[in-house]
Amino acid sequence: MTTAAQPGPVDTSNVTSIQFVLNNGELTIVGHLASLPPRERISSALALRARSRSDAIRFAHAAELATRMPGLYGRAVTTGTVTVEHFDTIWGRINRQLATVPSGAVDELLPVLDTAVTQHVTEWLVTSPNPVSLADLRDRVDEALLDIAPDLVDRTAEAEANTTTLHRRGNTFILTAGSQTTSAAIADALESKARDRLAGLRRERTMLDADEAAELPGLPTGSQVKGEILLGLLGDSPKTMKIRVNLYRTTLDGLHGIGAGYVGGVGWVDSHSADKLESAAKVVREITTDPKEYPTSDHYRFRFTDKLFLEGRDGHCRFPSCTVPASQCENDHIVSSPHTDPTSDGATHVSNGQSLCKAHHQAKTEGHWTCYTNDGGYTIHWTGPDGHTATTYASGPLARFKGMSPSEVAALAADNASAEITDDPDVPALE
Ligand SMILES: [Zn+2]
Repeated sequence: MTTAAQPGPVDTSNVTSIQFVLNNGELTIVGHLASLPPRERISSALALRARSRSDAIRFAHAAELATRMPGLYGRAVTTGTVTVEHFDTIWGRINRQLATVPSGAVDELLPVLDTAVTQHVTEWLVTSPNPVSLADLRDRVDEALLDIAPDLVDRTAEAEANTTTLHRRGNTFILTAGSQTTSAAIADALESKARDRLAGLRRERTMLDADEAAELPGLPTGSQVKGEILLGLLGDSPKTMKIRVNLYRTTLDGLHGIGAGYVGGVGWVDSHSADKLESAAKVVREITTDPKEYPTSDHYRFRFTDKLFLEGRDGHCRFPSCTVPASQCENDHIVSSPHTDPTSDGATHVSNGQSLCKAHHQAKTEGHWTCYTNDGGYTIHWTGPDGHTATTYASGPLARFKGMSPSEVAALAADNASAEITDDPDVPALE
């Protein structure tokens, strides 16, 4: 294992010394990640830290900086005041400038930036108050880049001004335009399209006689029309767009659900919401909780009911720390199927299936990570490229029926149906 710095004994009487040890601990992980191929860093950081993906990405960025700008990294580490977050900030400022540089020229440019930024930033780091302010550090790196490569900074500013990105926060989509000019142009275009469409709808109504017009619903609002235009641009209209939502709910008669329900990607919903969702359902299927009742298939692909069972058992991607909902995952054979690997004999059966998101399915297929199960997929043991191990547990709404007989399941179902969601310790709170 490569180490960037070795922590010494902790002198707890001194806050600064504790901070040095903490920083060194983080940077030891960075040093290790830097020794791995870039594509394996995020998954390894996730497994090592067991925190969020954004935390893992910060570590991967710091490792990227350590390998690509070793001068800057090495000097900054010796100050003892720099954390992974600081390295992530430095990398973010520099990487931003590389977006407009042809990939062939990046390798030539980086050593130049390394030398110049090291000088500018590390001198400042030594004298700046601890903890080092991220905003000040960002400004300091930007200043260095402006000094060294003013043309590059200009080009980046221009490119960013023409960039737009789309983010989702809860039920809101946020479109970020790189500049006021771009955002104003998009808003204008949307506004004028919406006006045209509304004018068209009004014209249509003038052709109708009074009786026909009276039967029509009111005109849509401006924002409804804009929403329809945006959906239209995405190739769908609200009328034709199909959204599949699987609601998992206990049933005693095989027809009607009772109590709280579980929705992939959302989590547990209260019985009132579950009632509403169920009343909108086009199809209701009974999914047995006992894996033994699912037949083995001769085919490579899992059957539809197998997929529903796996989604309901797993809850989310079974890779360590991954939170992609199982409803958005692919079905993986834990032991490879003979259809893809003639030397392997993994059955197409729910006890040999698991939900993996696209990225982690690929990481497993390519052999970076291996896994096995001793209990039909409820518990999965993983080993990573660096020998790191982790265990994940099925956490979907069907997972808690593991090993139960039909009468035990029915008793628990009746129990749960009468319990309020917040009173049931087995049911995770709705996030
Ligand atoms: Zn995943």
